[in-house]
Amino acid sequence: MVGIIKTPDIENKLDILAASARYDVCLASCSSNSHGGSGRIHDPKNPITRWIYPAHIPGRGKVGILKVLQTNVCKNNCSYCTLSAHRDRIKRVSFAPHELAEIFIKFVQRRLVHGIFISSGVGFNIDSAMEKMVRTAEILRNKHNFKGYIHLKILPGASFNLIEHATHLADRISINLEAPTRKHLNTIAPDKNFVTDLIMRMKWAGDLIQKKSYTKSHTTQFVVGASDETDFDILKTVDWIYREAYVFRAYYSAFQPVENVYCSFDNNNTLLREHRLYQSDFLLRGYGFRFHDLIFDKNGDLPKNVDPKTAYAMMHPEIFPIDINHAEEKELLKVPGIGPLSAQRIVKTRRKNPFHNLNELKRVGAIVKWAASYIEFSGKQEKQTKPGYIQQWLFDEMSSVQWRTGFEPYQKEKIASGMSLIDNNLEPYEYPGQKGKRLIFAP
Ligand code: SF4
Repeated sequence: MVGIIKTPDIENKLDILAASARYDVCLASCSSNSHGGSGRIHDPKNPITRWIYPAHIPGRGKVGILKVLQTNVCKNNCSYCTLSAHRDRIKRVSFAPHELAEIFIKFVQRRLVHGIFISSGVGFNIDSAMEKMVRTAEILRNKHNFKGYIHLKILPGASFNLIEHATHLADRISINLEAPTRKHLNTIAPDKNFVTDLIMRMKWAGDLIQKKSYTKSHTTQFVVGASDETDFDILKTVDWIYREAYVFRAYYSAFQPVENVYCSFDNNNTLLREHRLYQSDFLLRGYGFRFHDLIFDKNGDLPKNVDPKTAYAMMHPEIFPIDINHAEEKELLKVPGIGPLSAQRIVKTRRKNPFHNLNELKRVGAIVKWAASYIEFSGKQEKQTKPGYIQQWLFDEMSSVQWRTGFEPYQKEKIASGMSLIDNNLEPYEYPGQKGKRLIFAP
């Protein structure tokens, strides 16, 4: 470590603040996770690597990232967090902006990392904590001329000017909602105001990025299973923030009680829930699905035994089988086993060479064992495409409980008022933007 970390004090701080940062998954496709693994690139022969995480950055591929907190001092008491103020046994430390910038630049000079993710506790004063992160990024950009990836966390309640400044410096920013509604956030993070501290900041970030900013996108994260939220609650809010706050994507982190963190809810299913939420999220972002297309059980959770796309196909026999040679691309995307890339290839290939069987379909990347029951080739289904015992078993499973779509709760009100489906379930708030106040509807 000689040459990079000069004092045990700095090394100790880096150990503490890099370890605490691992719970945030909002970093592109960072492989750190909440499942017990740290996700770090730890090469035992090179101890420095214990602070580095692999991440997939759009346009830059898989690179090493220093993932670190500016400080772990925090006045808040979020029940799911190891840094809560009431946890008095942890050592509280902070990096001054120049300190963190200089350590990081040494990592860059050694070609150990290509980017940095900076998050932080809120300290005793939110703006002061936010300012330190922004200042670190500023030193990296202006003093060290660093052109690589910077991701800054926006703290709940941070002021508009600091958020705007962050969007001039960072490639990506993120604001973690953690819970899908005011009620749920209140049970796990009573010091944060869902609408004014988070949703409003998210809207500001979205508006700033839509104009002109260095930041290309902003993201968010939900802790799954820390309160009694359902998948329905989470995905309804996700659908809303994608449309209204231009959030690029949401991350889901299964809540796992760590180090005596209190949780009063059943969290046995959180890893499977996390998986199903990611699958549904892909449908919303890349497959043309809307929230009201998703299928939930009577408790408001996604099916456990089938993936959300198969659940959709099973609950909509009226639109299947879909004709591979004539359906539009957006219809092909509704078929289990056909993704955006294979749908594009199908449309391109069939112009000259229509498909006749599953083998030909397999060649363009479709997963035919999933697709077989839901497709036909110019009006003909292959023999083996008839639902087999697995499909029958799934169908029985689906039929044995009461299911509903995201559409149903809003349907009545829509008919009564003629208003938009989703907004009917939202409440109005004053949104103080740059041009005076206006009303927004928030979950
Ligand atoms: S504000 Fe952030 S750092 Fe502080 S307790 Fe809550 S989640 Fe943890």
